[in-house]
Order: sequence, then structure tokens, then C-alpha cells
Amino acid sequence: VLKPLKGSWNVINCFADNTTSQKNPDLVATRRGEKAVRGTASRFLWDWICPSQPEYRQYCKNIIRKVADNDIAGIRLDSVCFTREGFCDCRVCTQAHENSGLSWADWRASQIESFVKEVREIVPENLGLTIEPDPCCGRERFGLDLEALSRYVDFFSIPLYMHYSIVYWVDILAYCFRRRIKNPLFIEIYAGHPEQPTRSIFAALVAASPYADCLVLSTFDEATTKKIQREMTTDRRIWKYADDRNAHGLLEILEKWEGLS
Ligand SMILES: [Zn+2]
Repeated sequence: VLKPLKGSWNVINCFADNTTSQKNPDLVATRRGEKAVRGTASRFLWDWICPSQPEYRQYCKNIIRKVADNDIAGIRLDSVCFTREGFCDCRVCTQAHENSGLSWADWRASQIESFVKEVREIVPENLGLTIEPDPCCGRERFGLDLEALSRYVDFFSIPLYMHYSIVYWVDILAYCFRRRIKNPLFIEIYAGHPEQPTRSIFAALVAASPYADCLVLSTFDEATTKKIQREMTTDRRIWKYADDRNAHGLLEILEKWEGLS
């Protein structure tokens, strides 16, 4: 766990936790004997902790409270969901589901909703939530009920991480989420490793821009950010690309970046 960064938006990863999964394997989410960890046939990108474990939920909230006590811009929660359909059938989940009297889908959504609600009590403003980039089956697969969750967060953030040689899917997904989300919608475009051509990254920004209230370009290091800013502002084809598509907001950003260099 890193130290809170003052004046900035701090991202707090919740149920994807490779450290806790090693130290306390009993907390890992399960499905018919399968554990939600890296290196299995299901190809998990991270190890996933069960979102129903009371002590782990408390552990997350303690970290959130500590970060919120600093002079920060806000908090964005990552990995607040069940990892996939069928998870989690651990003892705690099975018991809680039985006691609830709810359907499996409703109970899973209520587990995620109650966690976000509890976090909202700690962070009364400037709280965002990252959502799995699935506009169709998010509730049944991940327990993410957008309508219910919208009551507790100030914005949703959707990571549309992919190869941007074709931006067709950025357009499709951004439009779907815009239709479904009334809260401010942040769309994240990935500019980390492996490196992609800057013109492709820009095409993705243009595709998402009509539907997003905020575009986040995720780079993870300052040198990459500066390189992308330099390449976007000096390549006239990029300016023309934005101009041809009436992407006025992005043109304004390019002008601002040009002024910085
Ligand atoms: Zn469980």
C-alpha cells in the first residue's frame, strides 16, 4: 500500500489483492473448488478476494479512511465487484445468500452495493467507482448494479483498455455506457505498455469524447505522458484528425498542451 498523494485523486484497489491472497488464502474467492488466482485456466489478471468477508471489508475501509483523512482531491475505487459469474461460493457467501432470501443475482448485487454504501459514509464527496467495461452483463457477472450504485458515487470510470488500431469498439462501448449512466462518466484510454502509436491513442480519445464527461489517459509514468503530449501537439495529422471530426474539446486540450511546451 502506497502513501496517500496529497492534492491528487487516489486510486484504491479493493478486492483484487495479490498480497492478501498469498498471506491469507482462505479469503480468496471460489467457484466450485476453483480459486480466483493468477496462473489458473481462467486466466485471472489478479488474485481476487471474496467481497463478503467481513474482516477484509473492514481492512479496505480502514485504508480508505486513512487516505480520506489526507488533503486529497478525491478517491476512486477499483476492483469493487465479484470477479466473474459463479463467484463466490465460499462458506461465508453461501451462508449469507441463504440467509438473505434473495435470488443469487440480487444477493450478489446487494453485497457490492452495501460495500460502496459503507464507503460513501466514509467519503461523503469526490468518490468515483471503476466499473468492469461490460455494459450488458455487469450485474449478473460482476454484481455491478449501475442504477443502485449511482446513488453512492460522484462518477463512474470505465477503462476501455485495448489495442486502438481500430476504435470501433471504443465507440460502441462508450455509447452503451453513456446510455446507461446518468452520473458523470469518465472513460479511460490506455497509453501504457505495450506502447501503441500515438495517433491510434488519439483516435481512441476522439471516439470516446462525444460520450464522456471526462477522458482519462492512463500512462503510469511522467516520461510517457510528456512524450505523448509532445507527439500529439507536433503531429499536424492529429490536429486535422480532430478538426475533421469536430472534436473541439480535444483541440482545446492540444492547444493547452502546446502552450506548456
Ligand atoms: Zn465468498
